[in-house]
Amino acid sequence: MKTLSAYAHIPFCKQKCSYCDFISYEGKNSLIEPYFGALYEEIKTYRALLGATRTIDSVFIGGGTPNYVDVGYIQILLDVLRDTFEVNRQAEITMEANPASNVELEDFFKYRNAGINRLSIGLQSASNALLKAIGRVHTKEDFEDFYETARRAGYDNINVDLIFGFYEQSVAEWAETLDYVLSLDVRHISCYSLKLEEGTPLYHRYLQQGIDIEDIQDRDREMYEMARDRLLGSGFRQYELSSFALPGYESVHNLHYWNTDEYIGFGAGAHSYINDARFYNISDLTAYIEGIKENLSAIEEVEQLDEETKEEEFVIMALRKLDGVDLEEYYKRFGKDFLEEYAEQVLYLQGAGLLNVRDEHVCLSEDGLDFANIVMMEFVRG
Ligand code: SF4
Repeated sequence: MKTLSAYAHIPFCKQKCSYCDFISYEGKNSLIEPYFGALYEEIKTYRALLGATRTIDSVFIGGGTPNYVDVGYIQILLDVLRDTFEVNRQAEITMEANPASNVELEDFFKYRNAGINRLSIGLQSASNALLKAIGRVHTKEDFEDFYETARRAGYDNINVDLIFGFYEQSVAEWAETLDYVLSLDVRHISCYSLKLEEGTPLYHRYLQQGIDIEDIQDRDREMYEMARDRLLGSGFRQYELSSFALPGYESVHNLHYWNTDEYIGFGAGAHSYINDARFYNISDLTAYIEGIKENLSAIEEVEQLDEETKEEEFVIMALRKLDGVDLEEYYKRFGKDFLEEYAEQVLYLQGAGLLNVRDEHVCLSEDGLDFANIVMMEFVRG
C-alpha cells in the first residue's frame, strides 16, 4: 500500500494575530460543532476512494488553534481517521498548539491517549512586549506553563515556532528568544521569517507608520544567520530553510511536503495532492459545512498537474531541504538526468557560489540559503 500524509484544519482561534492571513477566525464558536460534524463526514467519504489503497504515516492537526476547541473533538477526529484509513502504528501525529488556551494536565493526557505524539507550539517570541504588539494572546509565562505541563504529561517530541523580522523586534531581542528556547529541552525549532501579507492589520499599521519594508528585510537576514549560528552551535541540524532538529527529530510530515509526496487535507481551505492532482477545499466555513452537508464534498477546484509542473514543484520543494535534490530520486520520478537537464542553471549557480553538487545531491550552498528564492526561480520554466 502507498503511504499518505493527512492534514486536518481547525480554523478557530481565540483572537486573530495581527500578521496572520491563515484561514482562521475568532468569534465563530457557534460553528465549532457543525464544523467538526462536517469534518468527520468529509474524512469518511474517502473510505471507499482511498481507504483500501493508502496507509497514513503522518498526521498534522493544524490551524487555527486546535487546542482552542474541546479535546473531545480532536479525539473523535483521530477515531474517525483510524476508522477510515489504516493509520500506521508508528505514525507521527502532530498537533499545533497555542499557549493561550487553558489546557490542563489531564487534557494533555487525553491528547496522548488519542495518539498525538508530537506538539508544535507557537511561541513566536519570548518578548512580552512584542507578543502584545503583534496581537498574540499569550505571554512568555503562559508558554512556559503550557510547555512544562506538556512535558509533565510525557511529551518530549516538541517543536517551537518562532518568527523573526518584525519592525518592533531588535536583533538583541531575537537573540534572547533564541537563547530562551535553547534553554528548554525542545527537539525541533522552526524559525520563520515574517511574511508581511497585504490585507493584514500589521501590513496596514506598518504602511500607516511609514515603515520601510526594505529596512526590515536587511535585518531579517542578520537574524536568520544568527538563528543558524546559535542553533547549529547547540547541536541542532538544519534540514530545511526554516527547520532545525536534534538528530532523529526531523518532522516526517513536513518532509513529505518537501518531497512532494501524496497528502490529503481535510477541512476548510485544506489542499490535497493525490494521483497527480491537487484539490482545493473551499475556505469559507459556512460554505464548507454546507458543501459537505449537501454534496459530501467541499472541493472548490481541481488542478491536474502535468509532467512539467510536477517536475518543477519537485525541484523547488527539494531545494528547500538542506539535502537538496536527490539525483537518484529525480531520475526515478522523471526518467532524466538532472545534471544534464539543468546543466546551464547548475553551472551558473555553482559559479555564483549559491549551489553545491555533492554526494548525488544538488543543494543550496551556505550563501545560497540567503538567496533561496533567487536560486529557485532559476528552475522555473515557462
Ligand atoms: S494563533 Fe496562529 S492561526 Fe490563530 S490567528 Fe494567530 S497566527 Fe493565525
